[in-house]
Amino acid sequence: MKQEIACPCGNKFSIDIEEEIDLDLKPEYLDNIFSGSFMSYNCSFCQKRHKPEFRILIIWKSKKIKMEVLPELERGEFYRRKKENTPYETVIGFPEMADRLAVIKDNLEPIVIETLKSYLLAKADENYPDKEINAWYYGTSPEGIEFHLDGIREDEVAVMRVPPEIYEKTMQEYKKHPKNETFTSLRVRSYLSVQNILRPDSLK
Ligand SMILES: [Zn+2]
Repeated sequence: MKQEIACPCGNKFSIDIEEEIDLDLKPEYLDNIFSGSFMSYNCSFCQKRHKPEFRILIIWKSKKIKMEVLPELERGEFYRRKKENTPYETVIGFPEMADRLAVIKDNLEPIVIETLKSYLLAKADENYPDKEINAWYYGTSPEGIEFHLDGIREDEVAVMRVPPEIYEKTMQEYKKHPKNETFTSLRVRSYLSVQNILRPDSLK
C-alpha cells in the first residue's frame, strides 16, 4: 500500500508499506523491528526522520501468533469501540509491537511479563508519583528478566531486573488462577497490556 508522508519542510514523499508481514517467511523484519529501523524514513529533501505508524498484521505461525498492530493514534478509538470480535491479538504502537515480539521470541509468556511490569510500575509510582513512567521488556540474563523504565529522568532509562524465581512464581499463579483480577485487569478484549491499567479514566 502506498502512503504519503508530509514533512514539515513542505516536501511530500510516498512510501510503500506492507500491510501484512509473515515473520517466518521474512525473519529479517524482526531485526528491523528490534533495531528501530522498521518503517523509518528520511525526508528526501531535509533528511528529517519520520516514523509513521499504520495498522499492520503480523503473522508468525511458528510461534502461533496473529497480531494486529494499531497506530498509537488509534488508542482512544480502540477503547471507545467497546465491542468487537477480532481473530487477532492486538498491540498498540510500534514500540509495544517490538516489546511483545521480543517476549515471544524469548519464549516467555506475555501475560506474565505484563504482570511483572505492573509490579515494577506500581513501585515506581510510589517513588515518583508525578512522573509518567513506562516499562519495557529488554531481555533475559542469568540474573533474571531485565526491564527498562523510562520517564523517571529525561533521556535515561532505569534498569530493573526481576529474578527468574519471581517470573516462575507469577507463571504458577497465572496457571492456577487465570481469572484473578491481577491478570484479567491487564486485558481489554483482544488487547493485553499493562497500558490497560495505566490508562486515564477518560479511556475506561
Ligand atoms: Zn523534510
